[in-house]
Amino acid sequence: MSHAENVIIVGGACAGLTAAIYTARANLNPLVIEGYQSGGQLMLTTEVENYPGFPEGILGPELMQKFRKQAERFGTRFVTKDVTSVDFSKKPYAITVEDKTYSGHTVIIATGASAKMLGLPNESRLMGKGVSTCATCDGAFFKNSKIGVVGGGDSAMEEAIFLTKFASEVTLIHRRKELRASKIMQERAFKNKKIKFLWDSTIIDVLGKDQVSGVLVQNILTQKTSTLECEGLFLAIGHTPNTELFKGQLKMHPNGYLITTLASTQTSVPGVFAAGDVQDFTFRQAVTAAGSGCQAAIDCERYLHEIEHP
Ligand code: NAP
Repeated sequence: MSHAENVIIVGGACAGLTAAIYTARANLNPLVIEGYQSGGQLMLTTEVENYPGFPEGILGPELMQKFRKQAERFGTRFVTKDVTSVDFSKKPYAITVEDKTYSGHTVIIATGASAKMLGLPNESRLMGKGVSTCATCDGAFFKNSKIGVVGGGDSAMEEAIFLTKFASEVTLIHRRKELRASKIMQERAFKNKKIKFLWDSTIIDVLGKDQVSGVLVQNILTQKTSTLECEGLFLAIGHTPNTELFKGQLKMHPNGYLITTLASTQTSVPGVFAAGDVQDFTFRQAVTAAGSGCQAAIDCERYLHEIEHP
């Protein structure tokens, strides 16, 4: 096992890279284990228009590149491999990456969450070309367009209602006849004249060459298929926090997100902090993830200072 690092950051997207910038500038010489697919959910978007400081907007992958460059500038070291296991049962904490184990006095977990996908043949190909998992991020690109939203929970209602600000028509496609969303959200959606409902329906595929032109829908009761013409398809079938590695080691909410203490990024294990979407199922924005990465870095710095100077 190598010597113990001051701080190991697991995850190389908004939260992890912000934590790296801050801990690097605090002379903690952070090691970021960014994984093979770093950059997080912004790698799946095109234009980001709501990240402050970029009045003209910026491409998601380009924004992540800038975060990474800024972290590198202050000496952050990167390991571009996936973490395979962790051990938080004793100090220093152990983080194993394939065949190598790193140890750290502190750990910042910033592994994010992944939007659930439908697994359709053309879904990934058209991601960012009409298929989106974030109305707040991409809604404004669909002015006067027809949009499909899939899902029946609060997220789907929220996204559908938000999208009516831009779209001429929003069709909510749900696999049952009953919504899972809270009553208040249901009522808001039902009241909105721009929202139509396609019940008992599943999507078989997304259509379009370089841009979404429609979705192929099947009614599960009649098995009849039909084409819904639309320029956008928003997936709102939930998110999965990337917390599999931490099961049994850190306390989690029933939905799998890491529990952090109020006003701090401290997890149930002292010296292990969590930032970004892995612990946030409310805001889920690039800027809030970056903000909590900064909080985690400051929490971590204070923790190290306290154990060195009790
Ligand atoms: P959710 O409550 O788990 O709902 C997911 C929806 O997607 C369900 O209607 C589900 O259908 C559908 N779905 C799942 N997999 C599907 C598939 N493969 N094909 C088709 N449909 C599929 O997720 P969520 O809406 O993201 O909400 C997550 C949590 O955040 C909830 O606790 C919610 O209350 C909360 N939230 C609150 C607010 C708010 O209060 N403003 C806003 C957003 C989220 P079934 O119903 O048939 O299972």
